[in-house]
Amino acid sequence: MTPDESYLGRCPECGEDISEAWLLVKYTKDNGETGIWAECPNCEDVVAPE
Ligand SMILES: [Zn+2]
Repeated sequence: MTPDESYLGRCPECGEDISEAWLLVKYTKDNGETGIWAECPNCEDVVAPE
């Protein structure tokens, strides 16, 4: 498997793979990590990909 840089993670609700095309917001957490919110193409809900 080749790592895909446009892959954000999986939906915590349904496990669907979420690509960067669904990215809504990128922010920096208090601990310096980058956090993201994306829309799940399956749930049509806003989730934090895991
Ligand atoms: Zn989902």
